[in-house]
Parts: sequence; structure tokens; C-alpha cells
Amino acid sequence: MNDLSEALYEQLGIDKDVYELGEMWCEKLKERFDTIDGIAEYNQLKVIKGMQEAKVSEACLTGTTGYGYNDLGRETLEAVYAGIFHTEDALVRPQITCGTHALALALMSNLRPGDEILSPVGKPYDTLEEVIGIRKSKGSLREYGINYSQVDLLPDGEFDYEGIRKAIGPNTRLATIQRSKGYEPRKTLSVDRIGQLISYIKSIKSDVICMVDNCYGEFVETKEPSDVGADMVVGSLIKNPGGGLAPIGGYIAGKKEYIENAAYRLTSPGLGKEVGASLGVLPAFYQGLFLSPVVVASALKGAVFAANILESFGFPVVPSGSESRHDIIQAVTLGSEEGVVAFCKGIQAAAPVDSFVTPEPWDMPGYDSKVIMAAGAFVSGSSIELSADGPIKPPYAVYFQGGLTFPHAKFGILKAVQELKNSGVIRL
Ligand SMILES: *Cc1c(COP(=O)(O)O)cnc(C)c1O
Repeated sequence: MNDLSEALYEQLGIDKDVYELGEMWCEKLKERFDTIDGIAEYNQLKVIKGMQEAKVSEACLTGTTGYGYNDLGRETLEAVYAGIFHTEDALVRPQITCGTHALALALMSNLRPGDEILSPVGKPYDTLEEVIGIRKSKGSLREYGINYSQVDLLPDGEFDYEGIRKAIGPNTRLATIQRSKGYEPRKTLSVDRIGQLISYIKSIKSDVICMVDNCYGEFVETKEPSDVGADMVVGSLIKNPGGGLAPIGGYIAGKKEYIENAAYRLTSPGLGKEVGASLGVLPAFYQGLFLSPVVVASALKGAVFAANILESFGFPVVPSGSESRHDIIQAVTLGSEEGVVAFCKGIQAAAPVDSFVTPEPWDMPGYDSKVIMAAGAFVSGSSIELSADGPIKPPYAVYFQGGLTFPHAKFGILKAVQELKNSGVIRL
């Protein structure tokens, strides 16, 4: 780098040895970073092409109020998403409050009593347990007579094809496939593997709707699950595709019929996509989507950088420093409470917002142990921004993701390493 940055790093509390370690890894990872930049370039062009083909105009950036009839910006943005994901249609709304809501909406609107959902990739994301009714909850799909079955991945991480074949019955209507590992120890699925799984499911029962939970996966590869047969892809706008600028929102892209069903459920039968004022969020939705490929690349570089540095200290990391990436999440097993706390303190101390706050483990509702979280985000809870969290229980792992710019992700990780050093967890 240069002397100017080195001095600032020092002023920001980074020791010379930690700084030099960072420089060494940046140098070593150049080729890796170039590959990530290449994917970002492709996806940037894909987004621009989508915007041009949908004829995004200045008029699209003004919003509507009230009912939101004839909202040009909203309708055009949905065409842009459909263009980028190569789907017939899309629903992209601030009224979809988060990723869980988008997934619940896609499920509830496309399933009817007596239908069965299959998860062929093991347990879905925590919050979906209540949506589906795996854990008893009010308003779950189970209450509406929609059943659930699950086939776990094999111990080696492969799909259990035989188990899946047996689990598909006459009532199987929808397969939910989670791309990212979330907080499970399994590997994240590549788009190609998702494609193989979908082909297999469709070869057994062609009318099974294949829905992919795309959270944290958008723009990590050049293809999306909708390019390999997914009927619906679903995600959150305060993760990858919002580019850090979207202040709220979720999306569903897919077959026209399924999007129509989702719209009738989101608003009301008869109204569907025609209502839903966009208020003032459209400029952030458009601009965030425009920036997203490069933001995702920054987060990916941060994850690769973190994996390599922490691996060099002997901490188990998933994915490993050299593995290919299919989402932006990095898990690091620090092995002790002090390690988890120090790591999160470092991430917090590097934040642009709330850097002076010290994160502490607390009893978060719904968890069976204390949890510590570090986030100093412009958008509350945004996890495309640099953030980390970890349950205070063995094996003492932290999950780390995001970074709107690589310099910020790098600084956050160096701060985390510095805190690990200061607290005596590691020695340089
Ligand atoms: C974040 C996430 C969700 C839920 O999204 P929220 O916006 O937190 O409701 C669902 N699935 C996966 C894989 C996720 O990472």
C-alpha cells in the first residue's frame, strides 16, 4: 500500500505487525481478488443491460403515494429484476419487510391445503421453521394443512438422491432449496449443484415448484438459480441486491403465475401488483441494485481475506481460505468466549456508525445461549454491511459477512485481529 495509509492505520489503532500481515495477505490474494473482480464486471454489465432493456428513465425515480396505481418506477424495477434473473416476472417491494417475509409470501401464496413442501437440503433457515410450522407457531403453513418433509444432505455433503426420490409423493407441490448454508455447518450450494438438484426433482415429478432461498447468494457467481431451472428465487434487499442502499424490502423473481399468486397474497385478491405505493424508496432500490455487483465483490474479498488470515493462526474456517465461494458468509471457529468477544469488538470498532459502542453477549430471545453481535450499519440490521455475530457456546464460532467496500472490510478484519492480539488470544 503506501505510507499515507500506514500512518492512518496506526492512528486507528492498528499495530505495525498487524498492518504488515494484512499487506502480505493482500499481495498473496491478488489473483483471487482479480477473479472476484471479473465476476463483478460481468454482473455489473448484466445489471446495466437489465436497466437499459427495461428502459429505466429519470421518471422511474419518483415514487407514488396512496394506492400507488400506475407506479412507473415500481413496474420498471420489477421488469429490471426479471431481466437480470431471466424470469418471466418479479415482485420487488418495500412492503415485503425482510427476507423471511419474502420467503413466507412465496410459500403461502403458492401452496394450498393438502400440499406438501419438501426441503431436500436439510433444515431450512431458523426463521423458516416457524413459517413452515416445524416449530409450532401461530399462522404457520402447518395450521393451514400444508405438510413438510425434509431430506438431509449425506454426511459428505452430497444430495441424498435416493431419499429425495422416496420423499416425493403425489402431494409434493414445492421444493425449498436454500443456497446459503446460513448457520448450518454444511457447505453453501453452488448454482450448478442447485441446477442438478432441480433437474433431478423435476425428472421425478415435473410439476414440483422449485423455490430457491437466494439470500446472500446474489451476484456471487455469474449465474443465478433461475438460470438453472428454479421457478422462483427469493431474497432480501438489505442483503446483496440492495447494494447497501435499500433501506427495506424483499424480492421474488420467477414464473408469471407464481409471482401473480404472491402479489395477490401480498396485497389482496383482485388487486395484486397494481397497488403498493413505492413512496420514496425507488432511487435507493435502483442505485443499490446498480452498485450491488461491486459491493458483493467487496464483501467476498473481505471474506476471503478473513479466511486466510484467521486460518494462518490455526482457527478452523468455513469456507477455507482457498475454497470456491457461493455466498458471502464466513464462519470462523475461535474456540473460546474471549476469542468471539474480541473478534466482534474489533468489527464494531471499525464501523462508520456506533464505533464507540462495545458489543456484549446478551440473552437474545429465541436462542439457547448468549449471543454477541457487532454491527455499525447505516441501515439497521443490514448484513451486506460489515457485521459479525456469534453464539457464546462451543465451538465458539463467529459468522461474519458484508462490507460495502473492501477497504472497510479489510480494516474491520485487521481491527478484529488487533483485538485478538490485545486480549492475548493470538500472538504475532
Ligand atoms: C437472512 C436469511 C433469511 C432471512 O432473512 P431476514 O431478512 O433476516 O428475514 C433467510 N434465509 C437465509 C439463507 C438467510 O441468510
